[in-house]
Amino acid sequence: MDFSLSDEEKAIRDTVRTFIRKEILPLEQEVLRRERNHQPSLDRSELRELQLKAKKFGFWGLSTPEEYGGMNLPAVMQSLIWTELGRSFVPFRFGGEADNILFYANEEQKREFLLPTIEGDRISCFAITEPGAGSDAANIKLSARRDGDDWVLNGEKTFITNGNDADFAIVVAVTDKEKGARGGGTTAFLVDRAMGWRSEFIQTMGEGGPASLVFDNVRVPGRNILGEIGQGFELGMQWIGKGRYTIPSHALGIAERALQMAIDYANTRETFGKPIGVNQAIQWMIADSETELEAARWLVLRAAWTVDQGLDPRHASSMAKLYGAGMVNRVVDRVLQVHGGMGYTRELPIERWYRQVRLYRIFEGTDEMQRLILSRDLLRGYTMIGGHLA
Ligand SMILES: Cc1cc2nc3c(=O)[nH]c(=O)nc-3n(C[C@H](O)[C@H](O)[C@H](O)COP(=O)(O)OP(=O)(O)OC[C@H]3O[C@@H](n4cnc5c(N)ncnc54)[C@H](O)[C@@H]3O)c2cc1C
Repeated sequence: MDFSLSDEEKAIRDTVRTFIRKEILPLEQEVLRRERNHQPSLDRSELRELQLKAKKFGFWGLSTPEEYGGMNLPAVMQSLIWTELGRSFVPFRFGGEADNILFYANEEQKREFLLPTIEGDRISCFAITEPGAGSDAANIKLSARRDGDDWVLNGEKTFITNGNDADFAIVVAVTDKEKGARGGGTTAFLVDRAMGWRSEFIQTMGEGGPASLVFDNVRVPGRNILGEIGQGFELGMQWIGKGRYTIPSHALGIAERALQMAIDYANTRETFGKPIGVNQAIQWMIADSETELEAARWLVLRAAWTVDQGLDPRHASSMAKLYGAGMVNRVVDRVLQVHGGMGYTRELPIERWYRQVRLYRIFEGTDEMQRLILSRDLLRGYTMIGGHLA
């Protein structure tokens, strides 16, 4: 068994690390200052400028197929890169990306939605959650009624990331109530903001924030259906599936950076005439954090590896998301504790991470939903204990 990275993986990871050190880390103090003043961390043009710089470094479209100018990197490589990105709290992400399900677009839709999204000229958001349907996404109610060649959308979506900035939304709507979501009763629509939906920012404990989207007789032409009629729920589950290994990959980077801060502080902060790191109480927090971090790393890499092998990644990804999200919450909490009162201030990014990572246990499938998936797979015999090594 070989646990090492290939030379290529190391080289790409190190190039990303250099980019983050040179271009992203220097922005951190300004980002903290802006957030303390309730301003956006980065505006759209600043993000775009950084993405174009990254493009010169060779990073553009990590998951985008080469025919669209992307790198089409294997999932393990993408996971390693997400971990590097997690080391900084500056909300930077590489450009040249589009929602995975936008690649189901037909040629006309590709020109209108996919290509401008990849280029960064248009911003998308993905909307399935509703006030009455989150974990139980199959219970959505936003309706699309056929009217001639058009469809008329009515209802509300909530907690939609980028919802306030997006130029268009990928909306999963009920097109056949009788069939239900799992029986082909939902369809995904590409809906321009100009077609008339409204968005309202939702205040959360994190920086930035999602939005609710209101559809009040929004008329959408039939040519704006993404994929097939009846495929909406399936596409929605594919969209969510991607985050199941990228979210915990990002969590690894946050935990690594935060833990290093705790180690440095434990070695330098003195109480009772000695560094706090000589105390077992502090040592155990550091030891437990590293152990959990490593356990999460191998779950995450196995999930990504499963994707690359063309195997069904759902079970491994749920495990990685469940454990990785919990791990980063526990690590950041300990790191805050090690820093005492300083950990609680807004001078350091620790309290920011504390707020940010709480979300990781909620979005794209709560802890409870991951447990539901894992236990169901075992109870029904879909998977064996031990996964591919069983
Ligand atoms: C910041 C943020 C960004 C988001 N971005 C998006 C986005 O871009 N697009 C989008 O469509 N959605 C998005 N979401 C929505 C997110 O996916 C949902 O909030 C999440 O799936 C949980 O749904 P809910 O909030 O309705 O909670 P509920 O489903 O109401 O659940 C409430 C609680 O009950 C638990 N629970 C529910 N059912 C069960 C059960 N059967 N057994 C045990 N426990 C159960 C849940 O785990 C949770 O703890 C976002 C949410 C947030 C907060």
